[in-house]
Amino acid sequence: MFDAAGQVAGAAGATAPLLSVVMPIYNEQEALPLTVQRLRPILDALDVAYEVVGIDDGSTDATPAIMQKVHQDWPEFRIVRFARNSGHQAALTAGIHRAFGDYVVSIDADLQDPPEKIPEMLSLAREQGLDIVYGVRGDRGTDTVFKRRTAGGYYWLMRKLVGKNMPNQAGDFRLLSRAAVDALKAMPEHQPVYRLLVPWLGFPSGEVVYVREERVAGSTHYPLSKMLRLAIDSITNFSASPLRLATWLGLLSFVLCFGLGIYTTVAYVLGKTVPGWSSLFVGMLFLGAVQLVCIGLLGEYVGRIYSAVQARPAYFVGYDSAEEPAGTGRKQLSRSAG
Ligand code: UDP
Ligand code: MG
Repeated sequence: MFDAAGQVAGAAGATAPLLSVVMPIYNEQEALPLTVQRLRPILDALDVAYEVVGIDDGSTDATPAIMQKVHQDWPEFRIVRFARNSGHQAALTAGIHRAFGDYVVSIDADLQDPPEKIPEMLSLAREQGLDIVYGVRGDRGTDTVFKRRTAGGYYWLMRKLVGKNMPNQAGDFRLLSRAAVDALKAMPEHQPVYRLLVPWLGFPSGEVVYVREERVAGSTHYPLSKMLRLAIDSITNFSASPLRLATWLGLLSFVLCFGLGIYTTVAYVLGKTVPGWSSLFVGMLFLGAVQLVCIGLLGEYVGRIYSAVQARPAYFVGYDSAEEPAGTGRKQLSRSAG
């Protein structure tokens, strides 16, 4: 384990709070103070026991100091600090695994998900006995055209993979009941993609429509490379169809080559052979490409098997003072890397 690197809140100690708000935070020195300012009155007004689990995903700017300060003024604000940057999804995983609440809401730290919707989600879940309440983006007007297009393509593909349970345009702003959280915690996956796993659970669910606002300050930490990574993780997490695609491609190229073989033989018998350099070259390139695609796809899965066998944790928690061991503490500690 790591040395204590931060302080953690007391609200969650004795009795479990009703609500946990999980917030991944990475280099949000500009946005975080504004987020806290807007979030706190909303949660206080709820008049229920709550905690905010701020996951500091290895921030390198003034964010850790700001979180420390927030925690001092606001005891319900709990700090979980990663030893290094591990990514948004890993931060979400840590938050969901460590939250104590009967209901767990995950929200971004940049105010793109309006905290005003949290009470609505909570009351919907409690009144109708729902396990999942999705925050569904009503309008992506504030996102760039590129982001909207790529997101549109992503959701279309995900619906194909996960099926009809997958709500359109639902990101990581959602409420989960304790039952849903426990079900997710029981899954052995190291890199869960929650926006797919949660719909896959198929528990009773509802939706709250919200308008995706503009990032309040700072800039996005999701460049194209991370978006692509998420898309690839999503597909390979959920489906073996890319592997089947490789098989189909292989079969198709086999048929093509067979046809070309017949053509070549006939041409040879008829004495119509031409130098043939280009057809050979094209054929070689084509086969090479097909093989590379197949190897790449296999590699994607082999890589996942490899990392599963290695069982490397997706994140390391530096310190969480709310994690007071009940007995010897051994059971608790085994969960601290995930
Ligand atoms: N985030 C994180 N680790 C990362 C990148 C982002 O914890 O490596 C957090 C970030 O602080 C924010 C949320 O994840 O609260 C969403 O990230 P961002 O706003 O950059 O993504 P976008 O909204 O542009 O998709
Ligand atoms: Mg954002």
